[in-house]
Amino acid sequence: MDAKKTANSVTSSEWLSRNIPERLDPAITAEVERLLAGRTRNIRLNSKLADLFRERSWPQASKIIRAWFMWVAVIDALALGINMLLLPADIVWKMLFPASIVPPVAVTTAVVFVELPSLWMKRVLILSGLFAILVSLAFWGYDAGAEFYERHLTIMLFVAVTAIIIFPVQIEFAVAIGAFAMGLYMTFQLRNPNITIGSALSDFLFFSIGVIATVAARRTANILAHKTFLLELRDRSRLADLIDANKRLEFLAGTDPLTGVANRRSMSESLDRFWTESSNKTRQVAILMCDIDHFKRLNDSLGHAEGDRSLVEVANIIRRCLRDGIDQVSRYGGEEFLVMLPGSGERDAVTVAERIRSEVEAAALPNPTSGVIPYVTVSIGIAVASPDTEVISTEKLQHRADMALYRAKENGRNRSVVYRSDIGEG
Ligand code: GH3
Ligand code: MG
Ligand code: MG
Repeated sequence: MDAKKTANSVTSSEWLSRNIPERLDPAITAEVERLLAGRTRNIRLNSKLADLFRERSWPQASKIIRAWFMWVAVIDALALGINMLLLPADIVWKMLFPASIVPPVAVTTAVVFVELPSLWMKRVLILSGLFAILVSLAFWGYDAGAEFYERHLTIMLFVAVTAIIIFPVQIEFAVAIGAFAMGLYMTFQLRNPNITIGSALSDFLFFSIGVIATVAARRTANILAHKTFLLELRDRSRLADLIDANKRLEFLAGTDPLTGVANRRSMSESLDRFWTESSNKTRQVAILMCDIDHFKRLNDSLGHAEGDRSLVEVANIIRRCLRDGIDQVSRYGGEEFLVMLPGSGERDAVTVAERIRSEVEAAALPNPTSGVIPYVTVSIGIAVASPDTEVISTEKLQHRADMALYRAKENGRNRSVVYRSDIGEG
């Protein structure tokens, strides 16, 4: 029961976020756009949209319907009580049976229909409960006779009209209520000894127009509810598009277009994040500054396009040497790559750097005029720190790796060097 209460009290935006998939079926999105592009009065939901609408609106509708039945029970009991006080006992006695049927029928319907498992069962019970109430009201007047006869038929119609107005249900449902009430009215009026057939017919026509107008108002209200629902769906799908576009933009803003690895900006963010996260205070981080040796000569001898291909290859080799989802490589500048190894100390960093260096060499990418060997090689500067033990900034750490790289170049290239304080001030 509690779970049902919670399910019934969701707001429409909560319902949307829970029940409509992030990305709507494209056929549904197209249908939503088509319906919204046309005239409001021509909006007709197809079966898929109608199902979604029902799922979304039913919890609220069932609350309203339940409240209506409860109020009918209360008002009927009050009316009976007042009649008992004001009317002669013989009339009250005649009214008593049909009038006392209404409250239990209304309360039972209100309590039971929400518990039924399927929508069609709920609908059948709601209509049966409502029709039973209308019949009881008609008999209330019929049994009391005299002026009460017609008065209670009018009350019966009034009750039916409030149901049509208040129940946010399909138009077929409203038509059924209106037709049943008018049929009941006519059946009883034709048997009314106090009026002529002509008068009964003229009253019937008069009230029919009122009931038809009410049903038309229900139809308009339904169409407007459908339109609001379609607008919500459109908002939802546009929001999903926007989120996708933002994600794509974010990805592109952090990616190097040539090699597909992260760019310098994205790497700076990762380093800063590592530095500021309190859980990393005692962890080490190693960074490797990898620079292709004599790359300018490669461009000069084989052309810029071949240079680009080598850059992509080297990026891929570095990527393959790293731990998935932990380490990160970025293109730092022209032919420089910066690698971040979270949680790695000096020994691990040297191992990874040597793996990268030897894999690049083993790939035998041509660099015929290189001063090292006629293939692409890399020099690597390594710096290790942890955010708490050494009070240095991420910029200083990168600078240390840069200085170690410079030493590797000085020492003959195609090698890795770990930063030491004797190399220079980082
Ligand atoms: P060192 O061993 O000292 O690092 O020598 P180097 O030639 O690699 O270094 P230098 O800084 O003199 O030259 C780097 C070259 O990288 C110069 C530039 O034309 C080239 N370069 C930078 N970005 C790109 C790029 O996107 N594509 C290509 N093909 N070349 C690039
Ligand atoms: Mg360079
Ligand atoms: Mg270079």
